[in-house]
Amino acid sequence: MNIRRTSISIISFCCISSLSIAQSLAPIEPVAPEAPEIIPPKAIPVEEPSTIDTEQIPDLPEVFIPTGGTAALTEQADIDLFTIAKDIGHVQDNPSLTFRRLVQRTIMPTENRPSYGFTLTFDDQLVDENPANGNAIDIVNDLAPLGARSIFFANVPMVSGKSVDGIIRRNKTSGARLAETKSLLESKREQFINIIRSLIKIKSPADQNGNAEYACDVFNHTAFHQNMGRLKVGSDHYNICIMGIEFIEECLEEAYLAERPGWQRARYFRFPFLADPRYPETQQALNQTFTKLGLISLGETQDSKDFDNYSHKAAYTSLAAAKLNKRYNPKFGRYGQTERPIALFHTKTWPKIKRGVIKAIKEK
Ligand SMILES: [Zn+2]
Repeated sequence: MNIRRTSISIISFCCISSLSIAQSLAPIEPVAPEAPEIIPPKAIPVEEPSTIDTEQIPDLPEVFIPTGGTAALTEQADIDLFTIAKDIGHVQDNPSLTFRRLVQRTIMPTENRPSYGFTLTFDDQLVDENPANGNAIDIVNDLAPLGARSIFFANVPMVSGKSVDGIIRRNKTSGARLAETKSLLESKREQFINIIRSLIKIKSPADQNGNAEYACDVFNHTAFHQNMGRLKVGSDHYNICIMGIEFIEECLEEAYLAERPGWQRARYFRFPFLADPRYPETQQALNQTFTKLGLISLGETQDSKDFDNYSHKAAYTSLAAAKLNKRYNPKFGRYGQTERPIALFHTKTWPKIKRGVIKAIKEK
């Protein structure tokens, strides 16, 4: 039922756009000519009567478009960022500079700055084998009642860079390595899609008009969390990495189609370890893959290095800086400027950091 409401909201949005155009075509009051005595009355332009009587149009309910998709974007440049197969070129159109889709942006065009001041993103596995570690569902269940959105950058469950090392070691040919990678990924497909679906259907409490935001979204962090900094295009490590990125996009597509039909999905990517490729040939090839998939990469402005220090205090400090429009990392403390802060955390650290995050959210 919630899904249907979303579809209707988007359709209503289209209707309003048509209506605005119609209203702008409504008759304009003829202006009295400055010298009426020398202008024949027939020369005064006569407006065609409009078939729309604006007095008769009932008040439409306010349109609600949930946060997180591209339906609310109005700038063409922002829409282009996520358009599949749209070449958005180089930075400043200079081919010697980094490719536009790979630049680690520090704003998310699809996220409005929330009242508590920062966008929350969480990296890596959505579920963890170790019961002491955090899972994505715990984060959403803790934050949704507070009206806070959780944004996940996910790997495929229960695989890692070690899985890739094993595949490379066990198989001697590129064909055999890619075949084993494919079969490993396929063995995870159903489980992964189900985990994504269980997350993206959760909504925050509805407001007084009955409108509820989705409490989370899931994006791409590669399948195996390989460090992409030194990947060489054409190598088996590179091809395995690309296969994994494409696999994640397929799973996200299927999960969103099932849970939010009609949803106009944004396609963000975060580099594992924030390490983008350093070789120009790799950048060029990866940019082509990202263009084909409609992906753009996202960095961060607030990094408390929670993965290393597991500190709720550092988590809070990084978010307190965000409220002052300052970036943060433990090395520099508060630095620079940000209008739309993006905090980077790790899903597995949630039990250790959540006190600090929730404190920062509650201090609006
Ligand atoms: Zn990561």
